[in-house]
Amino acid sequence: MFPAWSLVFGIAFGAAVGSFLNVLIYRLPRRLSIVFPPSHCPACQHRLGIPDLVPILSYLFQRGRCRYCGVRISPRYIWVEVANATLWGWLWWQWLVVGEMPLRFLFFALAGSVLIAIFVIDLLHYIIPDELNVALLLLGLLHAFLLSGQPTDWNWASWGHLSLRTAVLSAFWGTTLFCAIALIGRIVFKRDAMGHGDIRLVRAMGALLLLPGMLVAFALSIVLGAVLGGLWAYLRRRAETASHQAHEDDTEPLPPPEPIASLLMMSGIYLLWVDVLITLLPLKVQNRIYASLGQPEEENIDEPFEELPGMLPYGPFLVAGTLAVMLLGQPLSGAVRAYLEWAGF
Ligand SMILES: [Zn+2]
Repeated sequence: MFPAWSLVFGIAFGAAVGSFLNVLIYRLPRRLSIVFPPSHCPACQHRLGIPDLVPILSYLFQRGRCRYCGVRISPRYIWVEVANATLWGWLWWQWLVVGEMPLRFLFFALAGSVLIAIFVIDLLHYIIPDELNVALLLLGLLHAFLLSGQPTDWNWASWGHLSLRTAVLSAFWGTTLFCAIALIGRIVFKRDAMGHGDIRLVRAMGALLLLPGMLVAFALSIVLGAVLGGLWAYLRRRAETASHQAHEDDTEPLPPPEPIASLLMMSGIYLLWVDVLITLLPLKVQNRIYASLGQPEEENIDEPFEELPGMLPYGPFLVAGTLAVMLLGQPLSGAVRAYLEWAGF
């Protein structure tokens, strides 16, 4: 549809959107407005001009420092821009150069950007802002509605046919699955097994990927979590030994787990999408509603930790699985199908 050289536009748009993602990543968890004030250096408050805001290039030319006060800027900023530029370039090639589905490009690119923001925010602060989960859910539903009947990578499965109905039901089953995991974990292990943000994320994954894609993304997240989680625990233990901190009294008492009744009630709210409606209300009203439901308010976000955190959040693994299914849907779908045939289904 488009010539190959148009790829540079995909990459440039992706880098520009990545630059905006950095704003979201900084401001959403801090509950700051995402439009006001304009971008400024968090250290010296100097307002940033056009030359400071060119994605990727500004960071490279200023060697990762603020042009006004010289404070070091986290390399996270350039990595987010590079990641989003790569994602948009890939999708541009897949759906606009090789394929001919501009709407799928648009929805996947926007959804992928939201996923990158979720990845970084959850890694830094252990939360997934509701706004991002709702945005992802709406993108998934709109994609299913506008591209209803269009082929997906999972067309061989009865749940792989794109329609609004399938997307809504897939979201429902994703929510049910994760609520069940949270409840069983809470009852059997007597601790919180699944964050509420993860339940809302998997609901959006269902709408976006449909049931087969969502299950494969979930399976990939388990594998990734086991491998990287193990590696993380190993690195952390080594870092602790190196700094001669035995951390014997590190076993600070965990906060008490969520009551089962509360978990059941919230599961109902997530299954009925009541929380999606609540997210549309002003923040003060939202807080009052959740407080009346016995849900603790989010803690204040402090500066990100310097040393390795004790545990890894699960959201980034779900994001990685989702992105893999979006970008490598065809080979993954082929592998799953071959496996199912081999297993005799
Ligand atoms: Zn500065």
